[in-house]
Amino acid sequence: MSLIAAENLTVRFGGSPVLDGVDLSVEPGEIVTIVGPNGSGKSTLLRSLLGIQKPSAGKVTRKRGLRLGYVPQKLHVGPDMPMTVRRFLALPHRPGAADAAAALARVGMAGMEGRQLIGLSGGQFQRVLLARALLARPELLVLDEPTQGLDQPGEAAFYKLIEEVRREYGCAILMVSHDLHVVMSASDRVICLNHHVCCAGTPHVVSNAPEYRALFGYGTGGALALYQHDHDHNHGHDHDHGHDHGPDHAHENDHAHPQTHEHSDA
Ligand code: ADP
Ligand code: MG
Repeated sequence: MSLIAAENLTVRFGGSPVLDGVDLSVEPGEIVTIVGPNGSGKSTLLRSLLGIQKPSAGKVTRKRGLRLGYVPQKLHVGPDMPMTVRRFLALPHRPGAADAAAALARVGMAGMEGRQLIGLSGGQFQRVLLARALLARPELLVLDEPTQGLDQPGEAAFYKLIEEVRREYGCAILMVSHDLHVVMSASDRVICLNHHVCCAGTPHVVSNAPEYRALFGYGTGGALALYQHDHDHNHGHDHDHGHDHGPDHAHENDHAHPQTHEHSDA
């Protein structure tokens, strides 16, 4: 039985649907990665699966009692809202001190309970988010662009950590990623989303699919093309997402620059 499944999932915020008849399921232990251009509905799909976003049509089924861990794409912590790592880990559940300490240790943040969130580096904050997700002892870990804003070594370290965690917990992973190299090497299945499922299958099958090629281009240029996809690739939708993604997003080809990803769901 699937851990989670969407059938004919449709989400509309007014105009044409952000998600249109999406089918997707995640089986126990699987790594499923969603790729797609900015504004293609990836975060909305995850939020719908998690029950945070109500679908306009279609349905989501979760295994009864499914234990979920979620690392959201963005979490703003205002400088005027002081919060320690310890307090943050206690939201929304209240783990024992030993569990919190163990989760922090697992992500390489042992003894950091008393630190202020705003004092953490991007990589440390991502680790705290992961620790918080692990407190649920997840059967399914859902990660939305978890390495966004990290530099390349930080990205590699974070993916390694996720892989370790998966082996230890035996959990399935559903992840949105912009890092096509990771996607293609580490996923059991890839889903290419552009408001609907363009193509899906093993990394090998998807990377050779014409729909995927149309969105992401060929070879190593694919990572660049991910954010500069062909605007003529039209599925009959008329979305106005403002695809103004500059070369900032092409970080795989330019490790020297800090990343300044801008997302329309800010
Ligand atoms: P992605 O994660 O693929 O970049 P999102 O799922 O965040 O895309 O957003 C897809 C589209 O839906 C965007 O145009 C975004 O502005 C819009 N959108 C997302 N959430 C909402 C919302 N709560 N209300 C209105 N529009 C939204
Ligand atoms: Mg998103």
